[in-house]
Amino acid sequence: MQFDRDRRHLLSALTLAPFASAWHASPAAAQSAAELPSIAQPADRTKAAFLARARALRDEAVREGDQAYGAVVVRDGVIVGEGRNYVVLQTDPTAHSELLAVRDAARRLGTRDLSQCEVYSTATPCAMCQGALFWARVRRVFTESTLEQGFVPRLGC
Ligand SMILES: [Zn+2]
Repeated sequence: MQFDRDRRHLLSALTLAPFASAWHASPAAAQSAAELPSIAQPADRTKAAFLARARALRDEAVREGDQAYGAVVVRDGVIVGEGRNYVVLQTDPTAHSELLAVRDAARRLGTRDLSQCEVYSTATPCAMCQGALFWARVRRVFTESTLEQGFVPRLGC
């Protein structure tokens, strides 16, 4: 197992070597938190307001021709990350709203530990996104149907 993983790392390093410069110049890596536009905050810091923002992101995605999903990451009553689906527009099958919201929050907060954060999503996150929320240590997820209690993201189906 360990050997396989090391070998895989070595192989990916070798195959990616020619693209190393392009890889480092990727927008995600180049964009620091200071360069990101600030996030507009809802007037009310309520669960309903956070979910409403997730819905607005979903609607934005639909208007631009993407899939109907939106999500926000909240810490201490402040939206610290936002995401909407970009699967169609970026031709990326993994560009789900929750996953992008977690990446956005981690970049803005400068930490991969989101254990003080909650996620509000327009739909129940898929296995991939719950995995991302799990690894980020997001403490609770709230959706339309689980707005009262929410649930803890878990790895796997
Ligand atoms: Zn997903």
